[in-house]
Amino acid sequence: MMPTNAATSGRAIQDQVLIGGAWRGARDGRVIEVRNPATDEIIALVPRLGAAEATQAVDAAAKAFPAWRGLPAAGRSKVLRRFFDLIVRDEMRLARLMTLEEGKPLTEARGEIAYAAGFVEWSAEEAKRVYGETIPASSPDKRILVLRQPVGVTAAITPWNFPAAMITRKLAPALATGCTMIVKPASATPLTALALAELAVEAGVPAGVLNVITGDALEISDSLLADTRVRAISFTGSTEAGRALMAKAAQHITKIELELGGHAPILVFEDADLEVAVAGVVASKFRNAGQTCICANRIYVQAGIYERFTEALATAVGSLRVGNGLDDGVQIGPLIDDAGMVKVEEHVADALSLGARIRVGGHRLPASPPLADRFFAPTVIEGITRAMRINSEETFGPVAPLIRFESEAEGIAKANDTEYGLAAYFFTRDASRLMRVAEALDYGIVGANDGLPSTPQAPFGGMKESGLGREGGKYALDLFLETKYVSWALEPMR
Ligand code: NAP
Repeated sequence: MMPTNAATSGRAIQDQVLIGGAWRGARDGRVIEVRNPATDEIIALVPRLGAAEATQAVDAAAKAFPAWRGLPAAGRSKVLRRFFDLIVRDEMRLARLMTLEEGKPLTEARGEIAYAAGFVEWSAEEAKRVYGETIPASSPDKRILVLRQPVGVTAAITPWNFPAAMITRKLAPALATGCTMIVKPASATPLTALALAELAVEAGVPAGVLNVITGDALEISDSLLADTRVRAISFTGSTEAGRALMAKAAQHITKIELELGGHAPILVFEDADLEVAVAGVVASKFRNAGQTCICANRIYVQAGIYERFTEALATAVGSLRVGNGLDDGVQIGPLIDDAGMVKVEEHVADALSLGARIRVGGHRLPASPPLADRFFAPTVIEGITRAMRINSEETFGPVAPLIRFESEAEGIAKANDTEYGLAAYFFTRDASRLMRVAEALDYGIVGANDGLPSTPQAPFGGMKESGLGREGGKYALDLFLETKYVSWALEPMR
């Protein structure tokens, strides 16, 4: 099938990469096919680049750094503000593009564009507040000044499930501090990234300050981490890839931030508001067809509310509308690719073979041309035990696994029984329990009666094997700043 460039309100898809302010095509005809996961149609071909282009991007970023760093913060802030305005202006176009390459329903894609723009707006404001400090010295003729300075050239590697927000969450604070950046988006979803890069150029981001390259993840990341000019790297993706990058970052002690996988628990206590809990579980579990790092993967329901909750959840899940994300009213889109589908099917089959029971859904939906067989029926599955894969591995699909629990202490212990520590949720109307449980959960993000906790001003990130560092709000700037102190000895008064 030929690429259709079918997408976006009459405007061609950007299929070239940005290096040093110039748009560049493929080398030797090597391309990556970008497919619409709903139909499996090829919608664009983007360059499959490697180490040589990664080095060129670092050359460009290094060349651009002194002038960008030298621009007063107010100037960088204005550029970021224009970038924010342009993203907002083009929200619908960007959202359609995102739905085409990622599959999420258009309303969710619009929500992600607004969320992505929020990081740019926040960073535009925060750029003006990168304050230093003075510290009282021990000697009367000394002064101690603390300076916060940009680290230099930085890099970002991002996943397919949030094609816009995972980029702006890194790029905007990097640019706010005066750093320059090379972005390597996921091969499945490079189009939103390239469209954002176009808007950054239109906003006045100077040549080389932002470089976006598509291509071979290993070659590009190896090259970036072998280059001593790259001083920080921010990665969002699987724990497996994050672990490999962390080891490679050790060679030059490159600063690294890792936003990795998760295995989020939800605790529904007997005293929860049933309607709020069902709505919260559906929001957390079924957003992006269950393909988010903070999606619930274990739903613990206290015995006294178990039957009522399960019945209400099964009714809500059974009525979710599945289909092409571009169609009105669709709530559940396709899985990203065949491998994603196979994993979901394997998790369900494994659980059933070990005694779990399907309450609703539980199977792949047959192809209905032009739609491919990439849709999994929204599912509620009961009787999950510790031995099942679904209880410990990220499923990344629209499957809600239920587990009964008795006491608060048992619920907390089970919720914390994982190597992951990204997000956890719980539902209760008891204020004392709310504080106890929030404090006891070993997770970086806790939704208390809230299934959708993500917001640009909060510190997003995980504990344990879910990552290192925090993105969002003022915390996002830390990766991109060095702290330096100047000990200043004064001359005596003459
Ligand atoms: P992934 O396979 O790890 O890929 C993420 C990015 O890293 C892509 O750009 C990919 O490039 C690249 N990559 C893959 N293997 C690499 C390696 N060995 N070295 C360097 N780069 C590598 O993850 P994904 O499937 O795109 O995303 C899903 C995962 O991301 C899930 O585990 C999810 O929980 C996690 N996630 C975490 C957060 C968070 O904030 N904590 C947010 C969203 C997603 P190619 O696409 O070219 O392979």
